[in-house]
Amino acid sequence: MTTAGPQPGQPVVFRNATVLTMDDAHTVLTGADVLTDGERIAAVGPNLEVPEGTAEIDATGGIVMPGMIDTHRHMWQTAMRGYGADWTLTQYFVYYYLTWGKKFRPQDYYAGNLLAAIESIDSGVTTTVDWSHGLQTTEYADAAVDALEAVPGRFVLAYGNIHQGSWEWSTTPEFRDFYVRRIDGKGDMLGFQIAFDLPGVEGFPEKATFEVARNLGVPVTTHAGVWGATSDVGINQMHEGGYMTPGTIYVHSASLSPDSYYKIAATGGFASVSTESECNAGQGYSPTWRLRKYGIPVSLSQDTSVWWSGDIFSAMRATLNADRAKEHDEAHERGETVTNHILRAEDVVDYGTRGGAKALGLDSVVGSVEVGKKADIVLIKNDDSPVSFPVLHPYGHVVFQANRGDVHTVLVNGKVVKYDHKLVGVDLAAAKSAIESTIDYLKGEHGPEEWENGMHPEIPEHETLANPYTYRDDASTWREEK
Ligand SMILES: [Zn+2]
Repeated sequence: MTTAGPQPGQPVVFRNATVLTMDDAHTVLTGADVLTDGERIAAVGPNLEVPEGTAEIDATGGIVMPGMIDTHRHMWQTAMRGYGADWTLTQYFVYYYLTWGKKFRPQDYYAGNLLAAIESIDSGVTTTVDWSHGLQTTEYADAAVDALEAVPGRFVLAYGNIHQGSWEWSTTPEFRDFYVRRIDGKGDMLGFQIAFDLPGVEGFPEKATFEVARNLGVPVTTHAGVWGATSDVGINQMHEGGYMTPGTIYVHSASLSPDSYYKIAATGGFASVSTESECNAGQGYSPTWRLRKYGIPVSLSQDTSVWWSGDIFSAMRATLNADRAKEHDEAHERGETVTNHILRAEDVVDYGTRGGAKALGLDSVVGSVEVGKKADIVLIKNDDSPVSFPVLHPYGHVVFQANRGDVHTVLVNGKVVKYDHKLVGVDLAAAKSAIESTIDYLKGEHGPEEWENGMHPEIPEHETLANPYTYRDDASTWREEK
């Protein structure tokens, strides 16, 4: 039954749910209620008594879980959703770093961020790190934050600029002024990180950027262990400089040496694993199978919607797939058979919720459904779907059965931002028209031919084996027929 839905300021109670609390013990409750009051979770348990005027949401047959957390997303690139589906990392670098990334104007930045931010809350991602690495000036940064503030989600601006050395932009008065003007004092709704990479520049000029982060008291996030781009050299520079501080996020961490993994683990670092990205782009094999051996805590991310999906259901699924595929493949190389999996559905749900909260230092605020925490809550329930029942293994259901279309209700900081599968108080039409302007502009700048070519990089020469057996007369493939 559809009702008008909870009204602003009304306490909300979810009734009769399976609750994945993601508390320390990973307690799973069945037939339980979750009550929010104001910004916080007020009670969790069966048959809760609730204040008069509480909005009731029937969660029967559904799963209540903490809002999901994405610790690394280049939100501006959502403006070009899906464009780079067939790229490798090389095409991506050329496009964004060397050529077309510079063409983005502040309004294009705004358009991409706005759409990505709406997409986050729609899919139950209540906290998103905007790894915003095309901020050519603070005018761009203002546009990025304007978009984040136009959407009722929880965000962290990871400020970066690939068009200059980090030591150049991070040390300017404008940068500090921006931080004071737009970020300082925003509390847990708008966090801040400094985002830059360490390709191993001689003399370690990035030291200056680490000092800025230290002075502001903000964390650093860096793409580490990216094949052909960042390596152990950068990790060693950080380590020798004393900048591998707790709370630093190492994005991908896919192709590092054992020594670097030990250093990350020993210094309180966190990984942000983007499995769809690592499997497609070539940073290195998606590393959870390795990170868990070193005891490096994992959070999940989706990197960029210029290629991939932007929801954490996909991230959890891809991560479990990649980890298990590696285990099997390695065992087969040894002539062995894996009979029991190490990584469980429960683990990747942790990565996608509590793990993200820990990585962002927000663990005491969000990441679990516990009394006193901020109410960032997702209800997965879709009575019209044949995939909605039976719910036998709730973690498995979230990872392999559910998808973003099953997100029924989303609360961020106690506020209902989606109810009964519909966004609340979000102007999707405005986001669409902003994106259309950006695409028109970019297409115009490219010209039609280059625009098409950018989407379709050359396919390298590759061989189809000559088969000594013939099963059919027509052995041609569709590609040869073209
Ligand atoms: Zn990235």
